[in-house]
Amino acid sequence: MKDVRCKECVDLLLDYLEGALPKEMEEALDAHFMGCPPCLDFLDQYRASAKLGREAIATEMPKELADKLHEFLSREIE
Ligand SMILES: [Zn+2]
Repeated sequence: MKDVRCKECVDLLLDYLEGALPKEMEEALDAHFMGCPPCLDFLDQYRASAKLGREAIATEMPKELADKLHEFLSREIE
């Protein structure tokens, strides 16, 4: 099975939530979430924000989430 890195997870999250990913990628993300609590936590927050709608996320991501994402990504890229 394809191995997914945290950054890919974040990049693919929106498509994942919309069920727009190929089955193989969706399963790879599922597997990643199972073994990566920070990403699972991020998914939960993202899902909560997603209730506001895709437009809302794109235009005004909650500051807390944006900060967390930024911190998360800068930690990942070393
Ligand atoms: Zn992860």
